[in-house]
Amino acid sequence: MATAMSVSAVTPAAAAVARPRTLVCVPATARAPREMAAELAAAAAIGADVAELRLDRLSGFAPRRDLPFLLAEPRPLPALVTYRPKWEGGEYDGEDEPRFEALMLAMELGAEYVDIELKVADKFMKLLSGKKPESCKLIVSSHNYENTPSAEELEHQVPIIGLVMNDRGFISRVLCPKYGGYLTFGTLGKGKESAPGQPTAADLINLYNIRAIGPDTKVFGIIGKPVGHSKSPILHNEAFRSVGFNAVYVPFLVDDLSKFLSTYSSPDFAGFSCTIPHKEAAVRCCDEVDPVAGDIGAVNTIIRRPDGKLVGYNTDIFNCPLDLFTASQPTDPTTSPLAGRLFVVIGAGGAGKALAYGAKEKGARVVIANRTFERAEDLANLIGGPALTLEELENYHPEEGMILANTTAIGMHPNVNETPLSKQALKSYAVVFDAVYTPKETRLLREAAERGATVVSGLEMFIRQAMGQFEHFTGMPAPDRLMRDIVLTKT
Ligand code: NAP
Repeated sequence: MATAMSVSAVTPAAAAVARPRTLVCVPATARAPREMAAELAAAAAIGADVAELRLDRLSGFAPRRDLPFLLAEPRPLPALVTYRPKWEGGEYDGEDEPRFEALMLAMELGAEYVDIELKVADKFMKLLSGKKPESCKLIVSSHNYENTPSAEELEHQVPIIGLVMNDRGFISRVLCPKYGGYLTFGTLGKGKESAPGQPTAADLINLYNIRAIGPDTKVFGIIGKPVGHSKSPILHNEAFRSVGFNAVYVPFLVDDLSKFLSTYSSPDFAGFSCTIPHKEAAVRCCDEVDPVAGDIGAVNTIIRRPDGKLVGYNTDIFNCPLDLFTASQPTDPTTSPLAGRLFVVIGAGGAGKALAYGAKEKGARVVIANRTFERAEDLANLIGGPALTLEELENYHPEEGMILANTTAIGMHPNVNETPLSKQALKSYAVVFDAVYTPKETRLLREAAERGATVVSGLEMFIRQAMGQFEHFTGMPAPDRLMRDIVLTKT
């Protein structure tokens, strides 16, 4: 993983404690001392363990005036004092000596931790000449923006804070307690980061339940690219917690699925959800694939069995909300209400295949339209139906009362003004479904409703496929009501 890495070692004074819990540290990055003090109080209020005073962020910082104020007792939280120079990614642009003097003053004033960069640690220690107060722990930091150090380079005798920066390093910030990391950073909110890729402290504590993560905690997650928008971590973490399942669910931003699965091959990485663009590659990467998922060539759930083998399923197929598509139609109990209906699927990816397959199973006449026509043809051939281009779909209205299912990402946040089919062309459809569920009401659904169609939201599919995944992950029945409530109120 070519991602910037930040490694800090905490001096042996802290090493005496046997596997302490990973501390959640909030960086205080305000420009004015008064605001920084308010950040300390806010960090304490959300349950952080430490606050990092980033002195280099302060405008017109005067150590003798500002430090006694910032470190005044009683402090809301233990203080980690950092005065980061530009050459290590900070904002201080001056000589080392005044910087060192400010850090020594912070020690005298009772700061619990002081951070010093590895490159100048010897120089700083010489200046200290043994005068470091016993109660103050020294954090020696190294930020490598070029590459990730090897495992050998990371071998250590003292507690380590090992964090990978940027989006690809996100999991290193959440999984610290599993691997004995001394401390992890969580911000007070978006835009308050002191390094790229930091989660909020509230998410670490409440969403990822970091206090409950330990060496035995199983890791699950959603593999995708992009993946940051996914609501699955909110849903699965709360569902795990509700049944007392010792697991955490994280976003995995993955470029190459096969490489990812061979790297994260530990039994502790026990299961994955798969989303764009990896559902099809997932079929090839699994040792065994559920026959229906294999037939349509899309896997959205991967489970690592105790023997280490990866097994692929598709919970989109079995949990398609097809029943809702015709809930308003008069039904003959002996046949599916979809039987004989003309069912147009836009998209030929994982979700498109699941919808097309499910509708075909229920007796619908399925038509596939896709941007890449060859893929439309492949899917149409698989399920036995015609294929269209997206241009042809605009003028396609062989009959009234058709059903439309969008399974492309068109209209998904942030491109909320896009729609896969013009409002004019929607006139022949009685029911319109959109697999996109961010936003909850897409432009497609809004315009279809305006044209009088019954609309079905992608949220229902999301809830049902997630419940299917939960059952694969845990072997327990999904907490139906709780998962619905979370999706409807928190995502
Ligand atoms: P996928 O396998 O990568 O397939 C993406 C499909 O969208 C392909 O047919 C692709 O066409 C088409 N597409 C993508 N961008 C397009 C664009 N700009 N214009 C036209 N067509 C475009 O992805 P997927 O897993 O099927 O997911 C597709 C969408 O469904 C996503 O928005 C996803 O969030 C949503 N989804 C929702 C649920 C749910 O539970 N509600 C479940 C699964 C998926 P090409 O073949 O031409 O590339």
